[in-house]
Amino acid sequence: MYWADKIAEEIIKSGEYKPYWVDDMFTPSGYPHVGSLRGPLVHDVVYKALKNKGAKVKWTYIMNDFDPIDGLPPDLMDKLFSYMGVPVRLAPSPVEGFASFGEYFSKDIQSVLKNLGVEAQYLSSWDMYKEGKFNDVIKEALDNADKIQDIYEEVSGSKKREKGWLPLQVICEKCGKLGTTRVHDWNGKTVKYTCEPEMVKWAKGCGYKGEISPFDGNGKLPWKVDWPAHWKVIGVTIEGAGKDHSSAGGSRDIAKALCKEVFRYPNPFNIPYEFILIGGKKMASSKGLGLKARDLSQILPLDIGRFLFIRTEFRKQVEFDPTDPMAIPVIFDEYQKAADAYFDKTNEELARVFELSQVSDKIIKPPSVRFSVLTQWVQMPNMEEEIIKNGLESWAKYARVWLEKFAPEKDKFEVQKELPKEAKDLSKLQKELLNNISQELNKKWDAEEFQTKIYDLGKELGLGGKDTFAAIYLSLLGKDHGPKAAWLILSLDRDFVKERFSVL
Ligand SMILES: [Zn+2]
Repeated sequence: MYWADKIAEEIIKSGEYKPYWVDDMFTPSGYPHVGSLRGPLVHDVVYKALKNKGAKVKWTYIMNDFDPIDGLPPDLMDKLFSYMGVPVRLAPSPVEGFASFGEYFSKDIQSVLKNLGVEAQYLSSWDMYKEGKFNDVIKEALDNADKIQDIYEEVSGSKKREKGWLPLQVICEKCGKLGTTRVHDWNGKTVKYTCEPEMVKWAKGCGYKGEISPFDGNGKLPWKVDWPAHWKVIGVTIEGAGKDHSSAGGSRDIAKALCKEVFRYPNPFNIPYEFILIGGKKMASSKGLGLKARDLSQILPLDIGRFLFIRTEFRKQVEFDPTDPMAIPVIFDEYQKAADAYFDKTNEELARVFELSQVSDKIIKPPSVRFSVLTQWVQMPNMEEEIIKNGLESWAKYARVWLEKFAPEKDKFEVQKELPKEAKDLSKLQKELLNNISQELNKKWDAEEFQTKIYDLGKELGLGGKDTFAAIYLSLLGKDHGPKAAWLILSLDRDFVKERFSVL
């Protein structure tokens, strides 16, 4: 059984976790890395698996847009440095046309996920705090500040106990920063705070001291507390976390303890998923393609992008390095295999992966021509008709990108307009062979039969297969290897080939 169906079955059988509410979250403070798409896609297939079993289920993806900016990409450093420490929703957008820094990056991830067929409803943490939805959990957290420190200590072994500590930061009324404020003296209505110049390395507070209500969006819980607080405010019953959070004594364990002892809320079903490793430094630096989530659709069709993330069981690490010349052709082949399993009903689990890889509601049958063949076709002239006939127009774009960015030299070729100098060394027999081939070009040929014919013509002259085909490649491409010769010749203008083969 497919892993997400197993999870759905386990959740339903347990009789707990009702009403089913799947949730995940993201901090919109920059372009997400491609690898970070595994979280939302794992949640999306679990949501769909539950739905397919007839369960009533909701699926939300939270924008943590109350978080402060704690780092900037180098190209924005000068322009936005003074906003370090300011909540992303209060900092200006790096690009015109968006209300804030947080809105710009929220829209970016949302459009990536929407394109990948993720059906989540997006909620803004900032908005929920502003609307007062967090007021009750803020009060509970402030009233239980000591207990929260106990939990940090017991669960994670943290020894950073601080007298008078409160689980909250407020927005400084003078400088607008959140990341620099230390809050103290909760009296049931207000807290006092100091905006500290040296509290964090990445932002400088202004030194202001004030007193303010912690409610209605004036302040935010620290994220370890904010996470389970979200569950209670929204009603989340199913939320997984990457392995960095799921290790023993990690933030997922802290959240679980806070649910039990502070918020009195049932611990949601956990899906501790492994990472997907994409490319690495090599890819970012040498190939001119970044590692951003939004770039995925430049190298893979969306259905195959989705397939890459959901096919592997959630606890297994996935490695995908597009700069490895075989990585992209192989994933296309595997997607076709999954499609065959679906349409031929041969492998139930693989068929299910294919079904859940669909971005649209309709199941779309992929082309049956292999990607490696397509990469040859796009390099041959006059193949447009064949490409359209085989439903390969959209895949052709990816074949060209692969050739340009990732293909090894041996897989690239170009029909030479003039006779290549490499053809000068052809043997007498090879030249004779080319002449014989050109005499066959007036007939109508099926490519498969023509391929056999070429081989036979070589044999008649006593030439082996290697010398036979090298003659063709050297005279047309200037290389001793190339795509299937018959297909190559038939893709070209007949008079052009005749002329080329007869001047030799
Ligand atoms: Zn300040």
